[in-house]
Amino acid sequence: MAGALGGKERMTAHIDVDHITLSFAGKQGVLTVLEDVSLTLAKGEFVVLLGPSGCGKSTILNLIAGFIPVRQGRVLCAGRPVKGPHPSRGMVFQQPNLFPWLSVLDNVTFGARMAGRKKAAANGDANAWLNRVGLAGFERHATWQLSGGMKQRVALARAWLPDPEVLLMDEPFGALDAQTRMMMQELLREAWKQTGTTILFVTHDVEEALFLADRILVMSARPGKIAEEVALPFGPDRDIETLAQSPGYSDIKQQVLHRVRTEARRSMR
Ligand code: ADP
Ligand code: MG
Repeated sequence: MAGALGGKERMTAHIDVDHITLSFAGKQGVLTVLEDVSLTLAKGEFVVLLGPSGCGKSTILNLIAGFIPVRQGRVLCAGRPVKGPHPSRGMVFQQPNLFPWLSVLDNVTFGARMAGRKKAAANGDANAWLNRVGLAGFERHATWQLSGGMKQRVALARAWLPDPEVLLMDEPFGALDAQTRMMMQELLREAWKQTGTTILFVTHDVEEALFLADRILVMSARPGKIAEEVALPFGPDRDIETLAQSPGYSDIKQQVLHRVRTEARRSMR
């Protein structure tokens, strides 16, 4: 279980969400969204968080990002308490949220320029990232000229530009068609292998989780907890077309799917 951690694992964790309980005050009274949630990510690990809608996945990302304050429990990044947003922890959302009045290149460098980086240096790095995500030649395009997948690639380049230690990804491919999504999944894994960034990725798509993750955490329906942890044995080099033929794939898929469906049914009640 993710909650029962030995001292060593806790000490070496890059991200450490430690016994978090969180409630929101609403019209119908107090809503407990997370109850005693603990999870850790090792440095460079790719972890996928799966769970029914409303179980608190985005809330966990928002806590780690520092967008919402911790009230009960602790959130540590590299051993230090998270006190607010920081460029070392990047976030990618389902919507690319690009500025329509800026070019592709200026969108990618926007945050870096706001943080005081010289434009020439930021442009150099941004061009390298645009190249890596397959957008070389689109630097001067307006964002309305891009497809949904291309926009999300711009968002990826923008998130990776400040060289974050941690990327938090909240269903980033959820709005894309199946073919584009697969291409984005391959691209993301390649970028992750090259950078070694620690990634916590939220999805409700089991196949996406199986292709991307080192480890899957399945959340229970509200109040959200970590219900199950599944380490994936597929190794770093995965082929999206043949992964399903890997030993153990069907059994693991069934195990994860069963848990996700159980929790989704619970959340309907
Ligand atoms: P998920 O991402 O798993 O779908 P969320 O983390 O977005 O779930 O939300 C979990 C629950 O917390 C939902 O019931 C949602 O309505 C509630 N919630 C999230 N943020 C707030 C907030 N700022 N105020 C009140 N309720 C919230
Ligand atoms: Mg969400």
